[in-house]
Amino acid sequence: MSFLSETRRRRTFAIISHPDAGKTTLTEKLLLFSGAIQIAGSVKARKASRHATSDWMEIEKQRGISVASSVMQMLYRDHVINLLDTPGHKDFSEDTYRVLTAVDSALMVIDAANGVEAQTRRLIEVCRQRDTPIITFVNKMDREVREPLDILDEVERELGMPCVPMTWPVGQGKSFRGIMNLRTQAMTVFESGSERLPQDFETIALTERDTLAKRFGADFESAMDSMELATGASPTWDREAFLAGKQTPVFFGSGVNNFGVMEVLDALVDLAPSPRSRTSTTVVNRQPVVKEIQPEDKDFAGVVFKVQANMDANHRDRIAFVRMASGKYTPGMKLKVQRTAKELRPTSVVTFMSQRREAVEEAYAGDIVGFTTHGGVQLGDTITDGASLQFTGLPFFAPELFMTVILKNPLRTKQLQQGLAQLGEEGAIQVFRPEIGGPMLLGAVGQLQFEVVQHRLKAEYDADVRLEGCQYTGARWITADSPAELREFVNAYPQRMAKDAADTLAFLCTSPYDVRLAQERFPKIHFHPLREHA
Ligand code: GDP
Repeated sequence: MSFLSETRRRRTFAIISHPDAGKTTLTEKLLLFSGAIQIAGSVKARKASRHATSDWMEIEKQRGISVASSVMQMLYRDHVINLLDTPGHKDFSEDTYRVLTAVDSALMVIDAANGVEAQTRRLIEVCRQRDTPIITFVNKMDREVREPLDILDEVERELGMPCVPMTWPVGQGKSFRGIMNLRTQAMTVFESGSERLPQDFETIALTERDTLAKRFGADFESAMDSMELATGASPTWDREAFLAGKQTPVFFGSGVNNFGVMEVLDALVDLAPSPRSRTSTTVVNRQPVVKEIQPEDKDFAGVVFKVQANMDANHRDRIAFVRMASGKYTPGMKLKVQRTAKELRPTSVVTFMSQRREAVEEAYAGDIVGFTTHGGVQLGDTITDGASLQFTGLPFFAPELFMTVILKNPLRTKQLQQGLAQLGEEGAIQVFRPEIGGPMLLGAVGQLQFEVVQHRLKAEYDADVRLEGCQYTGARWITADSPAELREFVNAYPQRMAKDAADTLAFLCTSPYDVRLAQERFPKIHFHPLREHA
């Protein structure tokens, strides 16, 4: 197969939802019906109760799960589909944002009774910022849920873009009769149960209106009415608009009953985009220049969007997840980490076939390749086979929670430093070194991150630490147009300056007014709430 067709047949998407909307169930069914897994229950079994718990075992399990099933690849209709899972717990939302930078589209699952919930809303914002195309799946139609028109209305409001229904439900809850597929103009008749294969559902052409009306009575008539209202009010399907993040196709179904799932799988092939170009910067005549990397470019280029410690505590190795932006990966090829200009020397290189890790034979743009290393790779690193460039856009958010790290046994300083460096590189936590010295500071977006880090420092690095509250409540990365201005600012606030894991200078705040006051005093200094890896 030609290089171009290899990239064109790839689809890389993230699945997003509020906990309990049915993401795990849908993921499993997609894998099942594409043939990637044989037995239902294998994804589910790995899903620990990952909701608001701060229990250690749960956190450990959660990590286990995210290693095992955060990336899943399936083959369907001769397409290579890469599905990226996003962590369910809100305290790990930073991870989720980074995963969203690695995909070309997103599948949003909503519970038809609850509509768009809090966590989905945050994820939508990130997709909107990046104009990521979103496919919407309205789940749990077998329950007593809201009216489809009402749901569409809410999705439109929350997404700030029109919905284009692709399927339409006939009835709901106890009288859920099926869905009308507006693309094929046929109704698929609902039957409950999780044994049935998607192709075993009965279908009836919509042209047989009398038969349908006779069999499904008022449910059918009122579905036709609401469907006509919905399609009348929504724009016609425009793939370009969808690709630009300006309309979302909507599907209805019931994941647990295998119903309406195949339509989503087909939509991933037919509607979702193949890998798109990615923005990088390169240096020409000492000036940074923006360069668009095309998926079919021959040279290998990719970015590390996730670093995950291996579960085996005896091996201090980590998997760097690289989203390929261009080129072809073949075993043994020489790759370089752009930040350090050092060769990447992985001990193994894997792809993620559903839940198995397999040695990579070849991979193309859109694919996620896992490099197991002993270090030397950080979140946000650009990996190429020679070309000198850096991908931009991987976000780090200014922490809102801070703790001071106190080592219980001072003889373990080296282990602590190593642990913090590695956990910082993984993005598990942000580590700040105060410029005037003193204990290290940990910065997090969610409280659970502290607990995970404290636990892992002890379990993996034998560094027993106490975390103490401190006065800081925020941080801003700072830059200035001239070094002299920066120096002046740093000299004015020496005790507030700290450097993060990437050696980027930050200003620590104790209240929201701090930034305002500092900004008034130093109008030429730029305060950034978000740092993009550059
Ligand atoms: P996640 O937290 O979003 O991954 O949600 P899960 O896939 O674990 O589903 C949450 C709960 O909803 C589980 O008990 C599922 O069995 C149930 N569920 C998922 N899909 C459906 C559906 O279509 N109908 C009904 N009635 N329940 C569902």
